[in-house]
Order: sequence, then structure tokens, then C-alpha cells
Amino acid sequence: MILLSGGTGTPKLLQGLRKLIPDEEITVIVNTAEDIMISGNLVSPDVDTVLYLFSGQLDDAKWWGVRNDTFHTHNALKKMGINEKLMIGDTDRAAHIFRSEIMRTGARLTEATMQLSTALRIRAVVLPMCDEKVDTMISTPQGDMHFQDFWVGAHGEPDVLDIKIKGIEKAKLTEEVMKALGSDDRVIIGPSNPITSIGPIISIEHMRGILSFKKVIAISPIIGNAPVSGPAGKLMRAKGYPVSSAGVAQYYGDILDVMVIDERDTSDERDFPVKAVRFDTMMTSVEKSEALAGYVLELFETLC
Ligand code: GDP
Repeated sequence: MILLSGGTGTPKLLQGLRKLIPDEEITVIVNTAEDIMISGNLVSPDVDTVLYLFSGQLDDAKWWGVRNDTFHTHNALKKMGINEKLMIGDTDRAAHIFRSEIMRTGARLTEATMQLSTALRIRAVVLPMCDEKVDTMISTPQGDMHFQDFWVGAHGEPDVLDIKIKGIEKAKLTEEVMKALGSDDRVIIGPSNPITSIGPIISIEHMRGILSFKKVIAISPIIGNAPVSGPAGKLMRAKGYPVSSAGVAQYYGDILDVMVIDERDTSDERDFPVKAVRFDTMMTSVEKSEALAGYVLELFETLC
């Protein structure tokens, strides 16, 4: 089973999915367009969340970082006048150092991620979407800012005029991603931010074409006319899409076979460009996540 993932909605689904199928049978292709260098090391927020989920270390109250981590280095740097853009825990930083040290020897991001994954004894395959540097930039009336500056630094408050995925035209599908896509025909697009988490992955050259031959089921991160959390609504509006599950289906276009929308969503099925089905998608517990994952697995059985 292949999943396309950001750092919150899809990892929540993975929590339940891994109760139903073994980790060895799961491959996650993860967004890297929010990656950022912090204090000399590469932080890959979405990849890290997925890795920590599989290693059992994830702080799933916040959906980032390591549970019960300490912040000695972050706070010591602060006292010395260095204000890191993200709160980096000490154990979390060890993973960033591990990844960056491997990359400093000339290895690709994918190779470093796979070695980190092995070091954390993870059995699932966790792959960055590409090896090239790609940055989600938010255009605001004050100018363009990196997604992390918009979301963490400015709390998502600036008006959004546009979203650009800088560097995406040079990004290539890696051999590891190609191999994964060649060995499984079932793809879940989890309920992640369509524009900033899934958008970069499906914008890599040839990705849409390959996905259009797969069985693809997406789960909407939007219920009614608002996302469950985060800036997806504002970003979809800026891109000219309706803030609704139908808008998400429209954005994904012909790669989709089925869109799962929330049972509370009052959208009209006729507004969807693909088959829309309903289920409880609010993953407020692992049990609810497992039920949703089970429903999606059954849905695949109905697709020929
Ligand atoms: P990010 O990388 O931290 O932005 O995380 P993602 O892109 O993976 O996930 C963010 C999206 O997850 C938001 O648009 C939320 O609406 C959605 N989301 C979070 N929790 C849930 C949930 O329980 N159910 C559904 N349907 N969507 C969720």
C-alpha cells in the first residue's frame, strides 16, 4: 500500500492503518517542500513526523517532534541570541544531525532518510518525494515568504495571494519512488493539506501520469467548508478552488478514483468529478483512524 503524506492528517490515518496491515507492506511518499535548514542541519518536518510515527516516538498530541523530548540545546542557543525558527527538541535534533551528516558525505536525501529509518528500526518504507530542494513559498502583500515563515513565524495570518512550489520543475521521481510505484497499484492520498502537502508530490514531473493508472483513493481534509485544522482553506481559496471536498477532488483531478468525504459533510455528490463516498473521517482516536483505514481497504476491493 502506498500513501502520499504530509505531516498531520495522513500520519493520523497511518496510526490506524498499521493496526490492519504490517508496516513492511506500507510505503509512504512524503512531502519535502517544507524542509528547512536549522542551525546547520536539514529539518524535514513531514518526513520526521512519519518516521517518528513508525518508530513509536511521535508526540501525537502535537503531531511533530519526539514525545517527552527536552529542549536544552534550543534554549541554550536562545540565551546566546540564536532564535531557531522551529522548536527543535534534543532527540529530534539528533535525527536531523544524523540525516545531515550522511548528506554531507554526498548521499542523496532519500539515502539519508533510508539510513535514518534503519537506525530507528522502522520496517515501513518512508521516502522523501524527491532529492532536489523544493520550497513552498507563500506570496503575500508583503512579498514571498517560506511556508515555515508564514505558518510558524507569522501564525498563518498574512493574506495569501498565491502559492509557488519553488524548484519543482527541476525535481525528478527518484528510483526508490519509481520502484515503489511500480510494485503496488493501490495509492491512498491521506487527508493532508492538498496545496502544501500533496500538491508538491503530485507536481513532480510524471507523477500525475503514473497515478492516473493506479487505484487512487483520497480522503478529504475538509469538512463542509473548512479544514479540520491548518491553513488549507486559505491556500485553496488563493489557488482559486472552492474550500470544500469537491474543491479538493477538483484539484486532484483525473488521478482520483474515489473521494472519501466526512459523513457530516453536506456536499452534493453531483458536484464531484469522481465517485464520492461518506464515512466518519474525524480521527479523534486510534480506533476511529483504524475504522477509516479499514473502510478504505474495503473500498479498494470494490475497484477493479
Ligand atoms: P501538515 O504537513 O502538518 O500541514 O499536515 P498534513 O498536510 O498532513 O495535514 C493537514 C490537514 O489534515 C489539514 O488540512 C486538516 O484539515 C487535515 N486533518 C487533520 N486531522 C484530520 C482528521 O482527523 N480528519 C480529516 N478528514 N482531516 C484531518
